[in-house]
Amino acid sequence: MKALRLYGPKDMRVDDIPVPEINDNELLIKIDSCTICGSDFRNISAGGSAHGMDLPRVMGHEIASTIVKVGESWKDEFEVGEHIVVAAVSPCGKCELCLEGYENQCLDKQATAYNYDGGFAEYMRVPERSIRSGNVLKVSSDKLQQVALSEPLSCAINGQEIAEVKLGDSVLVVGCGPMGLFHIQLARLNGAKQIIASDFDKNRLEIAKKHGADIVFSPQEEDPAEKIKELTGGLGVNVVVVAVPVPGIVSDALQWVRRRGRINVFGGMPKQKPEATLDLNVIHYNEITITGTSDSTARQLRIAADLITTGRIKTDFMISKVVDLEEARDILVAGPQPEHIKIVVKPELSSKASKDKEDAAYVK
Ligand SMILES: [Zn+2]
Ligand SMILES: [Zn+2]
Repeated sequence: MKALRLYGPKDMRVDDIPVPEINDNELLIKIDSCTICGSDFRNISAGGSAHGMDLPRVMGHEIASTIVKVGESWKDEFEVGEHIVVAAVSPCGKCELCLEGYENQCLDKQATAYNYDGGFAEYMRVPERSIRSGNVLKVSSDKLQQVALSEPLSCAINGQEIAEVKLGDSVLVVGCGPMGLFHIQLARLNGAKQIIASDFDKNRLEIAKKHGADIVFSPQEEDPAEKIKELTGGLGVNVVVVAVPVPGIVSDALQWVRRRGRINVFGGMPKQKPEATLDLNVIHYNEITITGTSDSTARQLRIAADLITTGRIKTDFMISKVVDLEEARDILVAGPQPEHIKIVVKPELSSKASKDKEDAAYVK
């Protein structure tokens, strides 16, 4: 089968490797769609080193697939032909955090495309731990391309829950990339009365405006502190979601939230420079809460898949491109582009292309 594997910093290759073998406790899936995540770019430019990955490694963790082989012990629960999404996290289910219901914070966490091969390949082995912990979810929808976005959406749901976005809130989303766009839609579903979005990219602001934001602005053209004051009657917003990898935004956000406001540090920060300077007196006197978010739980994955399947969360407008493994390699090595929101990788397209080539050679 064809697989896109990471060998080192910005070194990705499309390889021909054997279809994975499974044991009695595992599943074999055929990947329909696996979307590219912002973290893929970071890991690829770092060569996987930050997480001590064994290389080469098949990347890709936002997966929608069809079951092609069921291990003996799962015969009562899964059937060949069923569609499933696979969560990125594979928790132990036994540690303190797992037992508290925060399996995304598992003390012995494993993850797709880190500890075992991921979804930028025609087939993938789903490990026992992932199935046992409920992180494999059957989906009825045959819109697998859209359903692949359940994993990133579930992470945004985790962020909204932690930031406690609720009925009547005013919410500022900083950054209108895919995660920012999910936050805008979720804030609307959660009953926010006012959703403001900011980004430097004009095109992304337009998309945000069209899909849930009430007001959009570019910090290049308008001073955020002034703008937010004006929009909230001088009070500030209830919630700021920081969906960009810029530490300084968290310090600035202290001027944008109202008293008792909440700031969610949603995006991961650059590994070389994750620090920011915060005015602790603002946090103290104004009773500000700053929270983080990372990954999601099996419960949140279910909510995400349902919201996409029912159309409550729209995903069609977020898919900028559908590519094969070769094009995915070029895009991943080149780094993120503002005109791409979500890119869907369909490994099957690569095998079709190579079969067509073989057929053509045979005919000659
Ligand atoms: Zn992701
Ligand atoms: Zn655990």
